[in-house]
Amino acid sequence: MRVLVTGGAGFLGSHLCETLLKRGDSVVCVDDLSTGRRDNLAKFADHPKFTFVQLDVSTALNIKGRLDAVAHLASPASPPDYHRLPLETLAVGSRGTENALKLAERKTARFILASTSEIYGDPTVHPQNEQYWGNVSSIGPRSVYDEAKRFAEALSMAYSRTRGVNVGIVRIFNTFGPRMRAEDGRVVSSFIAQALNGDPLTIYGDGQQTRSFCYVDDLIRGLVAMIDSNETGPINLGNPVERTVQELAELVLEITGSSSNIEFHRRPVDDPTRRRPDISLAAKVLGWQPQVSTEEGLEQAIQYFRSHAGEVSAAAAEIAGAQFEGMSQASHQAAPSVMAEPA
Ligand code: NAD
Ligand code: UDP
Repeated sequence: MRVLVTGGAGFLGSHLCETLLKRGDSVVCVDDLSTGRRDNLAKFADHPKFTFVQLDVSTALNIKGRLDAVAHLASPASPPDYHRLPLETLAVGSRGTENALKLAERKTARFILASTSEIYGDPTVHPQNEQYWGNVSSIGPRSVYDEAKRFAEALSMAYSRTRGVNVGIVRIFNTFGPRMRAEDGRVVSSFIAQALNGDPLTIYGDGQQTRSFCYVDDLIRGLVAMIDSNETGPINLGNPVERTVQELAELVLEITGSSSNIEFHRRPVDDPTRRRPDISLAAKVLGWQPQVSTEEGLEQAIQYFRSHAGEVSAAAAEIAGAQFEGMSQASHQAAPSVMAEPA
């Protein structure tokens, strides 16, 4: 197969490129490096079947030659990233997705949309299955990401129904592992970097909100199964083991052996309170389920961050306060306060 991976220099995209190359596929990776980095490609950049193109897919997307699949992962994904890049996030969810869909149509390629559990917003149904329509603010600080992805799903379904594009939508739940940026502001990377630096772990709110954390290798297996199938979806991909943010902090402290304290900060506006995927559809139609426990995955991620000590210590200041303030500031343009709820 010859596969285009948009956002291929990002955390998930780089693992997808590597996995596809390992099984013999040719891979074209397109990325504007806005939240990704070339270092993520270092292990396979010289592979004869790998091509990297630096490009913003929201402007245009044209790739020469045959394509069998287009995996559309390009989009900022970490809340601090999409708060910093609100217009770019909306653009890549809308224009970027349409450019990728049009390319898939021209090439008669399978099109995979990396959608998200944010489709469900702050869910009122638990665990979340694919039939649930979600509880999303269209104007809140997270809306630039959530609504962009909802539009991307709608656009993909329209191309499926009216243009016959072979579309597959996966809704990815919180995934972590090596190649996350230490300073990207997501909870797993932040807690690990803080623990390794001996800095306080910053819990937003009282830490009783939940997430379900999937290890990257499991997620990529699911993504590849979706590429290889003809399922339209949407299909949830994530680890159904639910944890509070407080439990995650304690787990990170235990595995790293760090003596860092825990600090409580204000909770972001519209921060989902409970999140856990119902993965029975993925199990049924893709034969997929996660195999790596959160603990085993954290061991791997911690080992990765330990081997990137320079990056981890450089990230300290940004995680400790700058990105938290950044989220607050960005919100002034769109909504009165992004951090309004007291701890
Ligand atoms: P990431 O930020 O590491 O990767 C995103 C990549 O897209 C980056 O390399 C970035 O430079 C690139 N990109 C962004 N805008 C672009 C544009 N206009 N043109 C070209 N490239 C562009 O994030 P990630 O965690 O790897 O997420 C990948 C995809 O999976 C995203 O679409 C995200 O919404 C989705 N997703 C991820 C998770 C998760 O937990 N990691 C959860 C749900 C959904
Ligand atoms: N969170 C936290 N401290 C941090 C970063 C995040 O307590 O330093 C919380 C955040 O408020 C949310 C959860 O951890 O409840 C997951 O946040 P993340 O940004 O990783 O992902 P998302 O909110 O998109 O699920």
